[in-house]
Amino acid sequence: MAEILQAVKGMNDLLPPESARWEWFEDQVRALMRRYGYANIRTPIVEPTALFVRGLGEVTDIVEKEMYSFEDSMNGDQLTLRPENTAGVVRAAIEHSMLYDGGKRLYYIGPMFRHERPQRGRYRQFHQVGVEALGLGGPEVDAEVILMARSLWRDLGLKPEDVRLELNSLGVPAERNAHRAALIAHFEAHIDQLDEEARRRLHSNPLRILDTKNPAMQALVEAAPKLADYLGEDSRRHFDAVKAALDAVGQAYTVNPRLVRGMDYYTHTVFEWITPRLGAQGTVCGGGRYDGLMAMMGGKPAPGVGWGLGIERVIELLKECAVEAPSTAPDAYAVIPDAASLQQVVPVIEQLRAAGVAVLMHAGGKDGWGSMKSQFKKADGSGARFALIFGGDELARGEVAVKPLRAAADGQPAAQTLQPLAAVAGWAAMLRDA
Ligand code: ATP
Ligand code: MG
Repeated sequence: MAEILQAVKGMNDLLPPESARWEWFEDQVRALMRRYGYANIRTPIVEPTALFVRGLGEVTDIVEKEMYSFEDSMNGDQLTLRPENTAGVVRAAIEHSMLYDGGKRLYYIGPMFRHERPQRGRYRQFHQVGVEALGLGGPEVDAEVILMARSLWRDLGLKPEDVRLELNSLGVPAERNAHRAALIAHFEAHIDQLDEEARRRLHSNPLRILDTKNPAMQALVEAAPKLADYLGEDSRRHFDAVKAALDAVGQAYTVNPRLVRGMDYYTHTVFEWITPRLGAQGTVCGGGRYDGLMAMMGGKPAPGVGWGLGIERVIELLKECAVEAPSTAPDAYAVIPDAASLQQVVPVIEQLRAAGVAVLMHAGGKDGWGSMKSQFKKADGSGARFALIFGGDELARGEVAVKPLRAAADGQPAAQTLQPLAAVAGWAAMLRDA
């Protein structure tokens, strides 16, 4: 026997019926993007490794240890499976001069790849929805993208207590540099309390030390200089405007001065949507403003703001909150007693489908065509509301029997009817809209 092959560790198959929940989620996302005027962008899954090294920064978790990088065996190019999509979107915006006539509001949806330890809510291939508003620098756009996520939670049937919002401002580079110098001085004064990773990052990326999960360093981190005390007038005004916009629509938030996020490119507002229902992997959506990124990637300087959302985590949250996707059961199941009648039956089913009726057609299995009894069992199992019974006598008279499989609203069993094959449009709506 041939060896059984398996999917790569940390990379999952998505099968029915679970895939229906994902499709429904994606439908909600697309409707949301339309309402806010965000257009879809699709960039390649494979990009030059240099794109992420430059775009994310050399001293980040992703670039240091999470990238699937390889050499193209044909030409030696250094390539990477995208670990996130902001860098790719910004590359595309520059490459195609997308901002020549003003700002662009974009969204993406698709797989990302990170070599992490697989666990609940953390996979090696995972999926993100993200938005990027490019060339738009005002605080109203920070608020807009934050409120888009809030709308999505509502559309999905989540409650305000299921996801809470945390905010911070990282200011601009000059302010961060002054804060950074103060941070380094603070940590250098207590170097004996730093773990190995923190010591390594002390001079390259001291801000990331604030993000440490090491309990032994919490007190030291708590006492560190706060960036908020280093923000200038403009940065404070920007952050205040974002908060005022959230206040105006009654969106609660907490300002978390330790929220720094993983990527180097953030400026001004950063935020995370966090759920208390998923344990350690509770951040379902994170993002912020990245006004320096376009220039860092070789484009004309232009502001940007966006977020990325982990679809697996949101789906898991929907399950925790018992949110069910609408049924994808067919409207009708076609019971076909005799396979010899298919020539006559298939055109009718095709007419029904053209009229918008979801029809699951009986098909033979490994034990032959199947008895009436087994076909009715399958009709029931499919969740269809009607069985269409294409019996020989009915077909000879140009008719099909339509049998309701669910009780009517008043609880009474609904009656079977006969419908004319020559006038499908007359009864298709009854199946579709029942
Ligand atoms: P974390 O701190 O959980 O590692 P992150 O800061 O690395 O998250 P981002 O790069 O901001 O995450 O990605 C945006 C979102 O994508 C996260 O908030 C999370 O919901 C999701 N995400 C990130 N990494 C993974 C992963 N390995 N598996 C599943 N979802 C992920
Ligand atoms: Mg991470």
